[in-house]
Amino acid sequence: MTSISPSSHVAIAGAGLLGRLLAWRLLRGGRRVSLFDAGDLDTPPAAAWTAAGMVAPQCETAVSEASIYAMGTFALAQWPKWLAELDAEALWHAKGSLVVAHPQDMAALNQFRRDLEHALGEQANLQALDHAGLHHLEPDLAPGLRQGLYLENEAHLDNRELLVRLLAEIRGLGGQCHAHCPVETAPGEIVTPGGRQRFDWVIDCRGTGARPRQPGLRGVRGETLHVRTSEVHLSRPVRLMHPRYQLYVVPKPGHRFVIGATQIESEDRSPMSLQSSLELGSALFTLSPAFAEARILEQGVNLRPAFHDNLPRVTQQPGLISANGLFRHGYLLAPAVASHVLARLEGDTQLPFRSILDVRPLQEVSP
Ligand SMILES: Cc1cc2nc3c(=O)[nH]c(=O)nc-3n(C[C@H](O)[C@H](O)[C@H](O)COP(=O)(O)OP(=O)(O)OC[C@H]3O[C@@H](n4cnc5c(N)ncnc54)[C@H](O)[C@@H]3O)c2cc1C
Repeated sequence: MTSISPSSHVAIAGAGLLGRLLAWRLLRGGRRVSLFDAGDLDTPPAAAWTAAGMVAPQCETAVSEASIYAMGTFALAQWPKWLAELDAEALWHAKGSLVVAHPQDMAALNQFRRDLEHALGEQANLQALDHAGLHHLEPDLAPGLRQGLYLENEAHLDNRELLVRLLAEIRGLGGQCHAHCPVETAPGEIVTPGGRQRFDWVIDCRGTGARPRQPGLRGVRGETLHVRTSEVHLSRPVRLMHPRYQLYVVPKPGHRFVIGATQIESEDRSPMSLQSSLELGSALFTLSPAFAEARILEQGVNLRPAFHDNLPRVTQQPGLISANGLFRHGYLLAPAVASHVLARLEGDTQLPFRSILDVRPLQEVSP
C-alpha cells in the first residue's frame, strides 16, 4: 500500500502530543483511528503533559539549528488555525516572550542577543527594553530588573487544556482509545500484550517509549515546578538569563505558573533533587518577590525524546511511519512534523519540510 484510502484504519502508538494531533487530523479527514497509550489518557505520562507549552522559535534559535526556526515559524501560523477548528482559540496566547537578566548577569543577556542576531540576521525581530519598557509589559517583575529583550512574535499555549481538548475531539469523532496498553509497532501491525492486530497503517509516536525500535533515540531529563499564586500576574513567558542556567516561567490558567530550567543528559525519571528545587524556587523569587507566597502544586520530571543531533525525524516503511525526536521543541515543531506525516500518508509528492525531516535512511529494529 502506498497511500491512505478513505476506508483505511490507522493505528497510532502513543497518545502524547504528536499521537493526539495526528489522530484528530485523521479522524477529521474521515479515517478510522485506534489510539494506544502505555499510560493514562487523562493525566498522561507524556512529555507533552510536563511541558511548558512555549512556541518560541526565536528564543530556541539561539541554541538550535536554523531548521527549528523554519518549522517554528510555520507553527506560529498553523496553531491558531487548528485551535479555531477545535473551538479552542482561547488556549493560544500570541503575546511574545521576554528575556531578562539581573544587572550582574547582563553579559549573559548580551551574549544571548548576539547569538540570536548571528543566527537570524535580519530576521531577528527583537526589541531592547529599558526599565520603563520592561515594567510596562510586565508590571509585577522585580523592580531590580532593569533591562530586557522583547520577542514580539512568539507565543505560548495552554498545553494541558489542548491535550484534554484533543482527546475529547478524538473520542467524539469515534476514535478508539486504549489506555494502559503498552504496544510495540511493526509494519501494518500493533503488538499488544494480548497479541497482534493488523491495520492499514501504523504511526509510531511513542516518544522515548520507541527506544527499543529506534537506536540512537535518548531521553533528556527536564524538571518543572507548578506553583499557584494570585499575587503575581504575567501575560507572557519570561526567561531569566543566568551564567549557569536559564529559568523560564510560563503563565497558565487559574493563577498557575510553570517554572523550568533544567536540561540534564540523563534518563533518570526519579523525583526532582533538592538542589534543582532550591535553584528553581530561588531564581523564581528573584524574578518577583511576590512569588514567595506561591503554593507549590506539583513537581514534574519527564524525558524529552531526542536523537544525537536533537533534530526530529520521520521514517517510513510500507505500512509504518515513525515520527520522533522532537526534543525540547514539541509544541514548536508538531505542526510541521504532523503536516509532513499526513502528507506522506496521502501520498503527496510535495512533502512539507522534506529536506529537514526526510533525511536519513531507516534503521529501525523489528520487535
Ligand atoms: C520539562 C519539559 C518542558 C518542555 N517544554 C516545552 C515547551 O515549552 N515548548 C515545546 O515546544 N516543547 C517543550 N517540551 C518538549 C515536548 O514536551 C516534547 O517535544 C513533546 O512532548 C514530544 O511529543 P511526542 O508526542 O513525540 O512524545 P510525548 O509527548 O512524550 O508522547 C509519547 C506518548 O507515547 C506513550 N508511549 C510510550 N511508550 C509507549 C508504548 N510502548 N506503547 C504505547 N504508548 C507508549 C507515552 O505514554 C506518551 O503518552 C518540554 C519537555 C519537557 C520534558
